[in-house]
Amino acid sequence: MDRPEISLDLAPELHVFVPTARRAGPTALRTDGVSTLGHVVESLGVPLTEVGELLVDGVPVRTAHLPRAGERVSVRPVARPQPLPGPARFLLDVHLGTLARRLRLLGVDTAYESVDIGDPALAARSAAEQRVMLSRDRGLLRRRELWAGGYVYSHQPAEQLREVLGRFAPPLRPWTRCTACNGELRAAPKEEVHDRLEGGTERAYDTFAQCAACGQVYWRGAHHASLEAIVTAAVREFGGAAAVDGDDSGSDDGVSGPPARSASR
Ligand SMILES: [Zn+2]
Repeated sequence: MDRPEISLDLAPELHVFVPTARRAGPTALRTDGVSTLGHVVESLGVPLTEVGELLVDGVPVRTAHLPRAGERVSVRPVARPQPLPGPARFLLDVHLGTLARRLRLLGVDTAYESVDIGDPALAARSAAEQRVMLSRDRGLLRRRELWAGGYVYSHQPAEQLREVLGRFAPPLRPWTRCTACNGELRAAPKEEVHDRLEGGTERAYDTFAQCAACGQVYWRGAHHASLEAIVTAAVREFGGAAAVDGDDSGSDDGVSGPPARSASR
């Protein structure tokens, strides 16, 4: 069988996925003669979710391109921010719970289950709900059913958050979502939630919000400063004007400002 040799140059952003020998500029690669360029790149360990333009001798080609002998292939990373075919909604795998809570804190629509439902079910949910699948599992990101996917490069939640906000630029609406279930928060008069509060909390606070989905009650509590710091840093770096004066979040009724601790249900 004819096994054409091509030259392959991977962008530095993609080096993390390949052995050291492939990181120092163009290297020779012998293909099997029948695999598409997309398959060739993927078989090196690079998830196609991370690949932007594919250039052959400087000309963009599709992943279905069949490499021919002597071609010089350049593999570019995805554009950042990366355009999506729909609104920036996310689905996180079981290992990304802290990132899920931080995205929700910023009002980003983020689905997450603390139990592992398995790769096929995750991929199906990504497709059905049009959510970007975020994971550090390259096998999961190879599944063709995914609506969209993104590899999470860092192990650190703070850096993971910066990665996702920088890459997908979701609109930020801090303090509008339940960090426990992703439901939307609404202002809750004290008399409506008082049976969910302990006496000390009810006396100490006047402003409450409640999750419309699960009923969780939120108020400004002891952990508020650390959450506020996460929100402030994210809005400063990624929020832009829209996030700062979106909705009523600047109003002083406290509707969208409270979450920090919640009543047990
Ligand atoms: Zn909730």
